[in-house]
Formats: sequence, structure tokens, C-alpha cells
Amino acid sequence: MVALLALPLQARGQQRLPIIDMHLHAYAANANGPPPLGLCVPILPHLAPLDPGREVFRAVAKAPPCSHPIWSPLTDQGVMDQTIAVLERRNIIGVLSGSPERVRRWYGAAPRRFIPSVEFQLGPDAPSPDSLRRLFKNGPFAVLGEVSNQYVGIGPDDERMEPYWALAEELDIPVAIHMGEGPAGAGYLFPKYRARLTSPYLLEDVLIRHPRLRVSVMHYGSPLIDEMIAMLGAYPQLYVDLGGIQWFYPREYFYQQLRRLIDAGFGKRIMFGSDQMVWPGVIEPAIAIIEEAPFLTAEQKRDIFYNNAARFLRLSEAEISKHHHRSL
Ligand SMILES: [Zn+2]
Repeated sequence: MVALLALPLQARGQQRLPIIDMHLHAYAANANGPPPLGLCVPILPHLAPLDPGREVFRAVAKAPPCSHPIWSPLTDQGVMDQTIAVLERRNIIGVLSGSPERVRRWYGAAPRRFIPSVEFQLGPDAPSPDSLRRLFKNGPFAVLGEVSNQYVGIGPDDERMEPYWALAEELDIPVAIHMGEGPAGAGYLFPKYRARLTSPYLLEDVLIRHPRLRVSVMHYGSPLIDEMIAMLGAYPQLYVDLGGIQWFYPREYFYQQLRRLIDAGFGKRIMFGSDQMVWPGVIEPAIAIIEEAPFLTAEQKRDIFYNNAARFLRLSEAEISKHHHRSL
């Protein structure tokens, strides 16, 4: 028995405690530019001051200014396979956002590992409310997100979104919306991106009009923590995800932001998110930054990694047991 206990967890047939990644993308290898792209973590301190109008983010990714960049795989298959390998190793269930076709493909490759989500952006190619309704009715899609309208200059309270919010409320589909930073130089890469649309207050009229809507603010409206705290306080149904901000800013600054949300009493509504796009290698560093946060208790970490998302998504007892590899 003593010898048995000394074995690593996996050797004893036990698995790591599950993690729900609320912010995982199913992207092609070239979604962020021609691969391979090198990512320095954290991103911001590795960027040179902006030479106006230049494409900072991609330039840096081609010649990353750090000694151990995380390189993106060369092929679509590689992005998927390497992502699934990390999810298996760490017992992660990812809310997977992307085009319905690609999400279906990834889901088909590892159905235990994904909760399929429909990525959404208003524009000529946006699905109609009726076609979204069919996607949600026919499955396997269970979440609407990432809603990335900030990249096309459209705020959450824009009237063009109204039929979509009404649909999500009617069908009781949780929504995850990008509100926060884009890549450095976002306004040049995406000409209509505006930082000011990060304001969490822009959600207020949506929540007033749709009180039963389940909303997660992806990237927690970073860095507008005061506004986010005001919204979390006023709307107890509102959740946030960490969405890669833990590897965007220097660790200490991210910790200050996270700590303010925790100290304000919102530890039950913060959810883990890696914002993995084409770098499967960023998922584990994104986890480690939370695991190593010196001010979080073990219980707060479990809430962030799993319990809060399970509640937000309304996972069943059977699903929760399955994730923990328990039999009912
Ligand atoms: Zn985002």
C-alpha cells in the first residue's frame, strides 16, 4: 500500500482533476498568419514600441524576441492533434469555438474533450438567427461564442445583435462575448476594432432587456476592472473568463487584476480560459499561471478551473462525474 501511494497519479489509474477551458479555439494553422508563428509569453513586454502603422503582432511572431518562443504547428492537423494531446494529458474539457465545420471535425476526433460552440461575428457572412437556431436544435452546439463583434467595431448593445440575444435567451444557450484586448496593433490588423468597445457597461442594456440570458465576458473586460466589478455586482448572473490575459500581460499585472476581482468577492464567477488559437503549447503555461497565484486558495483554484464553469454551463451531475472519471 505504501509503495502504491508512492506511484504517480497516472500509474495508480487516477486522473488529474478536470479543467474546463472556456476559451479554446478551433483554428486553421494560418489563422493568425502564415505558420510557423512564435509566441513569447507574456506578449506585451516583448513588443517593441509601436512604429506607427506597422503590423507589430505578426512581425514579432515571425521573429520572436525571446529565447524560448512557443511555435505554432505547420498544419491544421497539427494544431488539432497537439491541442487534443494537451487536453488528454491535463484532463481538460474545452468549450471549442470556431466555424461549425471545423468545430464538428475536432469534436468528431475527441468528443469527450469538447463542448462545441459557434463562433459569431456580425457581417455579410454571419448566420441568420434561423440558421443558428437550427445549429443549436440539431446539435452538437451548446454555446454561442466567441462573439467577436468588437473586431468589427460593433458593441454588445448594437441593435443588430438584438435578434441573436433574444434567440440565445429563448433557447437558453450560454453566450461568451469578447470584451477586452485584441492583439497589439489591433486597430491596424482589424480596421474597425476599437478598444473602447471593451467597456463592460456596454452589456448593461442587453442584460436589462434579456434577464434570463447567460453571459460570460471573455477576457473579463480587461483592463477595465472597476467597470467589470460594477457589472458583476449589479448583475449576479454575469460571469467572466480569463481568456489568455494571464499570458498577455506580465504576470504581476495580471495577478493584480485577478486579485481585485477575487477581493471584491467574485471568486465564484471567474472561469479559466486559455485563448489557445494556433499555439497548443500555451495551454499549460496558461494553467500554471493560475496554479502558481500565491493569493488563491486551493478551493478558489478549483472554482476557477472547473466549478464555476460547470455551474455557468449547467452541466449535469452525470457530466461532472464523467469529467472526474467517477461512476455514478
Ligand atoms: Zn477574444
